[in-house]
Amino acid sequence: MQFKDKVVLVTGSARGIGLNIAQAFAQQGALVIIMDLNGQQTQEVAAQLKTEGYLADGFGCDVTNLSNVQETVNKILDIHKHIDILVNNAGITRDNLLLRLEENDWDDVIKVNLKGTFNVTKVVTKAMLKARKGKIISIASVIGMTGNIGQANYAASKAGVIAFSKSVAKEFACRNITVNCVAPGYIRTSMTAKIPEEVQKKVLERIPLSRFGEVADVAGVCLFLASTAADYITGQTIVVDGGLTV
Ligand code: NAP
Repeated sequence: MQFKDKVVLVTGSARGIGLNIAQAFAQQGALVIIMDLNGQQTQEVAAQLKTEGYLADGFGCDVTNLSNVQETVNKILDIHKHIDILVNNAGITRDNLLLRLEENDWDDVIKVNLKGTFNVTKVVTKAMLKARKGKIISIASVIGMTGNIGQANYAASKAGVIAFSKSVAKEFACRNITVNCVAPGYIRTSMTAKIPEEVQKKVLERIPLSRFGEVADVAGVCLFLASTAADYITGQTIVVDGGLTV
């Protein structure tokens, strides 16, 4: 129960990697805030966690909208008083080769993945500053380090998240707030299920550990970065890719 009495906010946590991260923190005693686009879905996920004996609450929020983020975080703080750990997980892909990539595909991905991370981090750090402690973890991607054909928008957004986190880590180190990223490779979720089978086969051949990652592989690293064992780690990106980018 290493996160007992901690409030953990996970964005984009109604499904996929975010949901698994929230479940992992809940299993360690944290009160988890499920934040996602669909408010009803967040309530249902939180209710399900509660029936399993965990502490949870759900809030609908669009991370791209700064005033919506501010209102939602105010509500969370009114009810739960503090946010100790933030996991910026909400993210989307709109893949296409550059010559076919539409302006709105670029804008949407940058808005959710990069501006969303800026919005939630900016608002939540205010509460953390008062407490003079906090842990911020953002889910980036190995694509933000290596680039990828058909993912110029996604790669740029995730590279941005890594650089943003390094800067914020420097700004808030003196306030005892650590800021780190997790960069997953290919994790089995609905996001990667969209990748054509023949492409998946080729990727698998390049993964030294010979399997796609599971959501739990990412959640485990988030638990570590949020724990006291990682108190002296900030501004870092931990790659979780089965050796793909080695
Ligand atoms: P996912 O299953 O598509 O889940 C993403 C969640 O984010 C969804 O619940 C989605 O809500 C929510 N979301 C989208 N736009 C939002 C917004 N504007 N405001 C609030 N929530 C929003 O994706 P995933 O595979 O779990 O990925 C989670 C994170 O890991 C992403 O940042 C992704 O880039 C990163 N990642 C994933 C992989 C992988 O292999 N899966 C690899 C590297 C990095 P809706 O369902 O309503 O759209």
